[in-house]
Amino acid sequence: MAVTPETVKKLVASGHTVRVQAGAGIAASVTDAAYQTAGAEITDAAGALSADMVLKVRTPSDAEAAQLKAGAVVIGMLNPFDAAGLQRLAAAGVTGFALEAAPRTTRAQSMDVLSSQANIAGYKAVMIAADRYQRFFPMLMTAAGTVKAARVVILGVGVAGLQAIATAKRLGAVIEASDVRPSVKEQIESLGGKFIEVSYDTDEEKEAAVGVGGYAKPMPPSWLARQQIEVAKRVALADVVISTALIPGRAAPTLITEDMVKSMKPGSVIVDIAAGKGADGIGGNCPLSEADKTVVKHGVTIVGETNLAALVAADASALYARNVLDFLKLVVTKEGALKIDLEDDIVAACRVTQDGQVTRK
Ligand code: NAD
Repeated sequence: MAVTPETVKKLVASGHTVRVQAGAGIAASVTDAAYQTAGAEITDAAGALSADMVLKVRTPSDAEAAQLKAGAVVIGMLNPFDAAGLQRLAAAGVTGFALEAAPRTTRAQSMDVLSSQANIAGYKAVMIAADRYQRFFPMLMTAAGTVKAARVVILGVGVAGLQAIATAKRLGAVIEASDVRPSVKEQIESLGGKFIEVSYDTDEEKEAAVGVGGYAKPMPPSWLARQQIEVAKRVALADVVISTALIPGRAAPTLITEDMVKSMKPGSVIVDIAAGKGADGIGGNCPLSEADKTVVKHGVTIVGETNLAALVAADASALYARNVLDFLKLVVTKEGALKIDLEDDIVAACRVTQDGQVTRK
């Protein structure tokens, strides 16, 4: 949800009227009564969508967009790469703020929805892997014999990957991780994992590895070929692979080929956080993944859950609602008036539509 009773209370205390669609909190076990106690009015979808400011999780559907008021403000994960969705918002005459477009700066951290949700996804991916894996994660010495620690490979070490390393480590796994950005080596090691080293041989490779704005850039094929050799060696020995590699606005890179899946031991588990973001819209970092399905291919269980954060609904909502509340402080004055200051880099980056136009940067 885009608001929780905690954030409703704060909004009401600042003088706002908050309407919450009936049943909005059910998936996270928040009742309408809890919202009412916090000071919200419970309404139907039309009542919520006709507000001056609409706080959402995902971008409005066609039916929802038709109920928005021209001139209203819509804040949510509006997907700045969804051209049709942005066009829909522009046509509805609303000012849209896509929170995913916030810069990855210190000031934007408290409203960084990609981080708050990816952190949860990284955690849940390991929980699911541990559940599907038919062996222990930790090394155990028991009277009935010794159990080896699980070998976990993490591909892509952004926010989700780092949390996956931390979580797998807490469970006692042995971890190796790969990323195109060499700056993550230290972070991986500080969490007790091992960085899979791939050399940067040309100026082009070194330049691409720096990325842009903290994000990865597509790497030259020469580097990707060397990475694949190193990753393939680790994947063949791995019990669990968690893949999270993404490049903003592009298809997720293929990092786990079918041959690599074939090389894995029966009973191994892949959790592909990038599922549904591959070139075909179904696969992810592994072309055998299937969005929102768990499949068994060549004896390997491949989990393609696309909304892992939603499986930790209560904390995902609590963190997301705080992100939204912090962003609101940038566009609403203390007196409660709307103020869109395009000199503010966060506001300017997040604004995707205004006055009937797509304004996305
Ligand atoms: P993301 O979800 O866009 O991508 C996940 C990871 O995949 C990234 O680490 C990326 O480098 C990696 N990747 C891409 N192609 C790959 C390939 N071929 N092989 C292996 N790995 C590949 O990333 P994210 O989690 O959104 O994080 C992006 C950046 O933002 C990171 O540098 C992170 O540290 C930074 N960040 C900064 C702040 C802040 O300072 N406020 C907050 C959050 C994140």
